[in-house]
Amino acid sequence: MFRKILIANRGEIALRIQRACREMGIPTVAVHSTADAEAMHVRLADESVCIGPPAAKESYLNVASILSAASITGADAIHPGYGFLSENGDFAEMVEAHGLAFIGPTAAHIRMMGDKIAAKTAMAGLGVPLVPGSDGEVATLEDAREVASRIGYPLLVKAAAGGGGRGMKVAEGPAGLEDAYTLARAEARAAFGNDAVYIERYLDRPRHIELQVLADMHGAVVHFGERDCSLQRRHQKVLEEAGSPALTPAARDRLGATVTAALRKLGYRNAGTLEFLYQDGHFAFIEMNTRLQVEHPVTEMVCGIDLVREQIRIAAGARLGYGQEDIRFNGHAIEARINAEDPETFMPTPGRVQAFHAPGGLGVRIDSAMYAGYRVPPYYDSLIGKLIVHAPTRLEAIARLRRALAEFAVVGIKTTIPLHQRILEDPAFIAGDYTIHWLERFVSGGT
Ligand code: ADP
Repeated sequence: MFRKILIANRGEIALRIQRACREMGIPTVAVHSTADAEAMHVRLADESVCIGPPAAKESYLNVASILSAASITGADAIHPGYGFLSENGDFAEMVEAHGLAFIGPTAAHIRMMGDKIAAKTAMAGLGVPLVPGSDGEVATLEDAREVASRIGYPLLVKAAAGGGGRGMKVAEGPAGLEDAYTLARAEARAAFGNDAVYIERYLDRPRHIELQVLADMHGAVVHFGERDCSLQRRHQKVLEEAGSPALTPAARDRLGATVTAALRKLGYRNAGTLEFLYQDGHFAFIEMNTRLQVEHPVTEMVCGIDLVREQIRIAAGARLGYGQEDIRFNGHAIEARINAEDPETFMPTPGRVQAFHAPGGLGVRIDSAMYAGYRVPPYYDSLIGKLIVHAPTRLEAIARLRRALAEFAVVGIKTTIPLHQRILEDPAFIAGDYTIHWLERFVSGGT
């Protein structure tokens, strides 16, 4: 097992990884920017190293600083968390070139899935169904017109290097194609330094269903069922459930069999998530995330597993030690993402948390690095906590989440708690009757 793990991240996920390490008896090294000197992930770590100024580019994305921190502290493995360097193949390669273990997949698989065109091509070759669209990159507006005439409208122009919902534009009809194509390319160039785009049919009422997988280095691949992440605003997830209210156990098993067979053929290792759009009983692959995801706790609650512990064991060369038949799905879990944002305008609300009270009780879990007196810095993502509930049935989980949200007190800054409270009172949500477009209409008062 590893002697010491450096956690190349901040906030709730740094704390989440630290907790798994501590339970495994592995010391941790926290890294932090000058803005995070007082952060909980630093306070609770065995050791910490300041890696630069507030701007992420100079700290949490600063590969040289992070590798130096690992070297001076004697860490022998790095966990990247999510965001920041977690999906950077060059980083994974450099970590390994320095003789450290990267707790994640190979650099080659990270690069393959980071290019969505390459990811789709690979998955199609492995028998995974795709959203209909262009056959690879669409290099000119003329090509875009040709693809459009074949797949029809509405369609979506998407950045090959896309992430976080950026570089994605809808064209409702031929008149909107030029704008969508040009804007998507420009946005992709600005955000990712890569303006390659592709085209997909724009599905009008799909659910976002994703499958959690784990693969060891000895050829074993299992899945831990699905998460329904259809509740999104601007293509960003807001609330997630496991399992999906729209999926039967038979549909889950079918998807699981397709996905695990594909990843076995690919020789994938460690944790990964395949994202699908699900409409009219059909699954269509959109992308794969080669890292731990924000919403992983709902899977952990339902399957009774510690995914971070498994990632660490796998990276150390251990065998999974269990098969698909050993994985059981127990009850229902829901996660509410609590952001430091105005619940109506969604403007970030950095500032000091004057008072803080976390809910508790049966089936309630909080993953958060927040504390009374904590100052939410303006430099990073606005996620300040995740409230996860687990209960025997979906309706009981909804009742529990309502109860827990009512106990949750964050004084001093606005948060998205009131938005979750509104969602949980909505009859369509309670019935599980929603698609990826539902929340956008809900927040603009259209449902
Ligand atoms: P990103 O990597 O930027 O998150 P994704 O490809 O994962 O981009 O898509 C993000 C979200 O955008 C999806 O969860 C879904 O809500 C929406 N989306 C993506 N592709 C399509 C499509 N072909 N039709 C309709 N919605 C889509």
